[in-house]
Amino acid sequence: MFKNDFPYFQNSKVVYLDNGATTQKPKSVIDSQVDYYTQYCANTHRSNFGHANKATQEFEKVRVILKEFINASKNEEIIFTKGVTESINFIASSFATHFKTVIISSLEHHSNITPWHMQGRSLGNGLEVVNFKENLDFDFEHFEELLKANPNSFVSITHISNAFGKIHDIKTITKIAHDYGAIVMIDGAQSLAHLKVDVKELDVDFFAISGHKTFAPTGVGAIYVKEKFLKDLKAYQTGGATINDVDFNHSTLLDSPYKFEAGTQNIAGIIGFGKALEYINHIHYKNIQSYEHNVYNYLDEELKKLPDIIFYNDISDSIGSRSFNFKGIVHDDIGILIDKMNIAVRVGHHCAQPIMKKLGIKGTIRVSTAFYNDFVDVDKLIEALTKALKILK
Ligand code: PLP
Repeated sequence: MFKNDFPYFQNSKVVYLDNGATTQKPKSVIDSQVDYYTQYCANTHRSNFGHANKATQEFEKVRVILKEFINASKNEEIIFTKGVTESINFIASSFATHFKTVIISSLEHHSNITPWHMQGRSLGNGLEVVNFKENLDFDFEHFEELLKANPNSFVSITHISNAFGKIHDIKTITKIAHDYGAIVMIDGAQSLAHLKVDVKELDVDFFAISGHKTFAPTGVGAIYVKEKFLKDLKAYQTGGATINDVDFNHSTLLDSPYKFEAGTQNIAGIIGFGKALEYINHIHYKNIQSYEHNVYNYLDEELKKLPDIIFYNDISDSIGSRSFNFKGIVHDDIGILIDKMNIAVRVGHHCAQPIMKKLGIKGTIRVSTAFYNDFVDVDKLIEALTKALKILK
């Protein structure tokens, strides 16, 4: 139904089910790239001629679109980055002196683990990990124990697990964390493609956003920083466009967001990010969610009919990714075979090795949907999996 808006689907026979890795881009996003490079290519926030001013205006318009999209209060709270990985690294290195302990969940992507290791934190040594329960549910009792034992900690938790599609109850996590005086950052890499996010309603302090997982070009993203934390946030890198005054001995920086956006940004990418958000506004989350939910349920029902399938969670509180294995079959072999049948899924650890190790597996076959996937995609996937299983059994 929505595929007509995405040129990829007109040009490709591939059944694209790897949306957890990156999403396809609507025509309006692609057109905006050509438009910038052919009509008004110029740097932003520097020169003062017509096209430079237009580029700056289009770029800054996206800050306002994103602010409204996630219901932030001020433009200053939106800082552009390359994506969630850069957002988390930025906060880890610029805000680290404000807390002793970081608390993460068991389902984190490496991008929300290794930045903490780079600061010398490891399990029990400045880093704590909340256990998971049956069905990969977040263990709230353990969370409270960790918060009690580590006052004034920093909670950094993924909203939706990229490996298993599990949605964490961010509103409750944030409420509990704040009750213990903790600060909360959410890894929202997988969020905006599936769910409406309202940072005020969730009451999060930091929220990391990925453009390319939200139908925008690669290499763009953002970090939302609640206004009251901006004064405590150090610049992570400086240089062109961040400064107020420089001499050879010292420099003073501009205010947020500019002091945090050093060097020339991915201007076309950011402009495309704005188009992606406008596209979502145009089709509306209500439609995205109801349509995607139906396809996700159908996927689950059809997968369950396959012999010897092993799941690690049911689909309650989940969206997007569905992860599984087949008894006695190496997941990589399935990936290789169904690729030959034009089915694109990811097989492996999905940049979430710690949870794979906890589950005693090397990886899974991950089917990850977006709202443009339809029932026919699921049927083609099931047909390919059935053929692959026949070959491998
Ligand atoms: N966190 C999660 C949960 C992810 O799924 C990903 C990407 O797969 C990332 C972080 C990294 O995001 P980005 O590619 O925007 O750096």
